[in-house]
Amino acid sequence: MHDASTRHLALALLEQGLTLSQASRETGVSRSTLRAWRSDPRATERGTGCHLCASVPLDAPAYAALLGYYLGDGCLSRAQRYWALRVSCDAKLPGIIDDVARLITAVRPTGRVFRIRAPGVVVVQSHWQHWTCLFPQHGPGRKHQRPIVLEDWQRAIVEEQPGPFLRGLFHSDGCRARNWARRTVAGVPKRYDYPRWQFTNVSTDIRELCCWALDMAEVPWRQSNATTISVSRREAVARLDELIGPKR
Ligand SMILES: [Zn+2]
Repeated sequence: MHDASTRHLALALLEQGLTLSQASRETGVSRSTLRAWRSDPRATERGTGCHLCASVPLDAPAYAALLGYYLGDGCLSRAQRYWALRVSCDAKLPGIIDDVARLITAVRPTGRVFRIRAPGVVVVQSHWQHWTCLFPQHGPGRKHQRPIVLEDWQRAIVEEQPGPFLRGLFHSDGCRARNWARRTVAGVPKRYDYPRWQFTNVSTDIRELCCWALDMAEVPWRQSNATTISVSRREAVARLDELIGPKR
């Protein structure tokens, strides 16, 4: 089984005029497979719409946000001839459900988006052969039990769009909570209330991606326990509010 980028490369080499033998040596794909790819008109059709297989431009802000949601509450699963992208959303947060559905449509305009209701949860779902091309972090086991490393093209998109990426992360695995502290001012004890954002994920790699994006967006953060990143300084909370909007 060859991945989509290998097929894309092989077809491009054949298009440039390489023989089957030459393209086979370049890519390690057998001549018979190359011949099948070349003669199957649907092979091109299957690549339609995919950023990697067909070089279709991506809506970068939408992709960055959807990547954040995928790393937070998303998963890919094999379903017959396609992959199902599923993002589990809290049923009490219709704004986020709409956000995820809109992002999926922006990334894959010709696909259908399903909303599957379960107690307390709405799963926003889309079927496509190419979801694993766009989310190559897919793998066996749970996300925190395997390394999560972005590919160079994904890093380039997040570097350009840290705000949308943070929206996806914080709106799935984050919360904005009120916190309070007691301080004594001029001998009088006072209670201060302030909001803060927290991002909790058991994957060290995903937490590091969150911190990397916060740094790029110039939002100060600190690690408040083994699995939680906090944004608590007043200007930092305001900056993050402005970047990602309310969670609702
Ligand atoms: Zn693809």
